[in-house]
Amino acid sequence: MPGPDPRRSLPSVDSVLGDPTVRALADRHGRTRVTDEVRAVLAARRTTQAGVGGLAREVADRLRASLGEAVNATGVILHTNLGRAPLADAAIDAIQAAAGACTLEWRRDEGTRGSRHDHVSEHLRALTGAEDACAVNTNAGAVLLALCSLGGGEVVVSRGQLVEIGGGFRVPDILAASGLRLVEVGTTNRTRIEDYARAVGEETVAILRVHPSNFRTVGFTEEAPLAALAGLARERGIALLDDTGSGVLRADARLPDEPDVRASVAAGSDLVCFSADKLLGGPQAGLIVGRREAVARCTAHPLMRALRPDKLTLAALEATLALHRDPERAWREIPALRMLAASSQERRAAADGLARAIGGEVVATVGRVGGGTMPLHELASWAVVPDHVGDAQAFSARLRSGDPPVVTRIADGRVLIDVLALGEGDLLRIPDLVRGARA
Ligand SMILES: *Cc1c(COP(=O)(O)O)cnc(C)c1O
Repeated sequence: MPGPDPRRSLPSVDSVLGDPTVRALADRHGRTRVTDEVRAVLAARRTTQAGVGGLAREVADRLRASLGEAVNATGVILHTNLGRAPLADAAIDAIQAAAGACTLEWRRDEGTRGSRHDHVSEHLRALTGAEDACAVNTNAGAVLLALCSLGGGEVVVSRGQLVEIGGGFRVPDILAASGLRLVEVGTTNRTRIEDYARAVGEETVAILRVHPSNFRTVGFTEEAPLAALAGLARERGIALLDDTGSGVLRADARLPDEPDVRASVAAGSDLVCFSADKLLGGPQAGLIVGRREAVARCTAHPLMRALRPDKLTLAALEATLALHRDPERAWREIPALRMLAASSQERRAAADGLARAIGGEVVATVGRVGGGTMPLHELASWAVVPDHVGDAQAFSARLRSGDPPVVTRIADGRVLIDVLALGEGDLLRIPDLVRGARA
């Protein structure tokens, strides 16, 4: 005898809406929206033949905003899927302040129309030594705009720099999109200044240098020094564009092997492009600094209008750059930098405290900076392996469906809650979230 058809036992939309928990949801989110979600849940259960259990909870889940906070317990500081750099408090306050009417394109001093680039250009001039600066939505956009500002012609790039940098940023594709022709020089592992000198011809408008962020060539390798490229560019009357990627503003021993923007400007780059949400620790944006006329060609280009950042991004960016004006303050107050600078002992102490609160073992881990930066740089970190959790996959799935979700890593069949990239409040709320996921 077949059992009763579970679909038959599904309640009507109206009777679900009569449930006190669902009624409370309707008071908060509006009856129309909640009715839509109840219908969707019932329809899904009809096709999956699931029973009636947990209906109200599933409706509540669907009402949660899909873009919301998460706990980054992955051991990767700049996790692109988790929003890259967590913002400093000052940047969060600035977003709040700019949310209503704000001084986006209005000069407070004169009461006249201003430029949205003013909020970042002065800071960037001071921080990098460049003559001028502007901001767009992403570094991919910054490189595209910098290339488009050249008009047309050929751009010379080393074969060792024709890279793909996560999420579809491929140097040859960006060049193709800009309408410029790519001229490849040298080999994958070695490119010399003579290779560039031979390739620069009548049609050449620029040399593009790209930092191969997320991978390294080791062994028998050579790249032409930036100063030599700048000399060649000047001699032949063409531009030098440098995509430094990670947004390190000035050399710092705590950020080894990353090119810094100040050095690139000093070496003679005409335009330097970099991300704001990697090691700069700010919101998603792309920054362009360089010679006054070269930056002016970018801001005057029609693409600028399509790539310009919104007021919330610019507010967070200005606040983050203001913190960088005092480097030690930046290392204290910008979360990504603070996480990077913490000692292994500090991380160990955090993991010990968490293990005491949730029950479990502390294990050593190797953390990463992430976001395609410092790929060989290993950070000595620590994680808690919570006890009494049963199957690791099922437990991590329950952590993921918590509010907020806790994103973990599984290694050797164990769930690791890595402390490396946890925010200040995370250590306090993880115990409850773990407790909820154990049940
Ligand atoms: C990360 C990176 C990019 C892309 O930057 P987005 O801000 O993610 O668009 C481009 N070039 C380099 C060298 C990078 O490191």
